[in-house]
Amino acid sequence: MQSNVFKTRYLLFFIFFSLIIFFLFFPITFTLEKKGQIIIFSSGYTNILLFDELSFDFNNNKFFFYYKLPYHDIQILNIINSPLRMQKGENLIQKQNRKSSAMVFYKDSHNLFKFDNYYYNRKWLEAKVKDVSSFLHNIGPIEEKVYILHLEMYRSFQILPNVYIISSFKDLAHELSHYFFGYQVKADANSTWHELLCEVNSVLFLRSFSRYRYLKELELKTVGFYYEPYGKSVINFLEYFNYDQERIFELERFILKNYKSLDDKEFENIIKKF
Ligand SMILES: [Zn+2]
Repeated sequence: MQSNVFKTRYLLFFIFFSLIIFFLFFPITFTLEKKGQIIIFSSGYTNILLFDELSFDFNNNKFFFYYKLPYHDIQILNIINSPLRMQKGENLIQKQNRKSSAMVFYKDSHNLFKFDNYYYNRKWLEAKVKDVSSFLHNIGPIEEKVYILHLEMYRSFQILPNVYIISSFKDLAHELSHYFFGYQVKADANSTWHELLCEVNSVLFLRSFSRYRYLKELELKTVGFYYEPYGKSVINFLEYFNYDQERIFELERFILKNYKSLDDKEFENIIKKF
């Protein structure tokens, strides 16, 4: 009888101890943001990826139990090794809901401009947001909230699915097209088909809404200003489709409807059918 009690106690102790070890290396985290200050509470060793507002790069950081992080305009935070992430913040515009996504905090989240489900931080973006929204409708609907943030950075990028950082108007259609090609249809790690399609969309968008930027873009792509697939590949693609926007949209809708993920080889096969 007594030995059974010992056994049960031993077992309980063992389970308890194992759980502590587990949550030490796969920590439960609670991230809280208030007034430009982010605090992360964690049950153990935590590995995070952070955005550096000065260099515009991502830095890796590791800590135990507690981390405090001020930010100025924007902070992008990916908690790499946490299986359970609780997230709360007055300026939290996107939660990290999978490993490859990230939390995004934007200081002025309550003063953004709004059109439909699009939120943007500059008044002058309004007309362009309306244009890009009607352009994207040709491909498919975007029902989630979309945040378009114009920031003084040297490059544009997205933190899928909701946040699009734009450094130039030229990149608007490219970045937002990643909602379809990159997010809704995932791209294989070694593939570039999604970059090609997004860049094709960017050129088509400019053709409709800024003739001058369009012609300039064609010229830059022809003279090899960009590395591939952002340069000559885009021109070749457009030529293959005779610059026929409707046919290209048809292809994009086909991919969106029929694929959850795609690699370059299968993409080539699809193109041959069009
Ligand atoms: Zn891209």
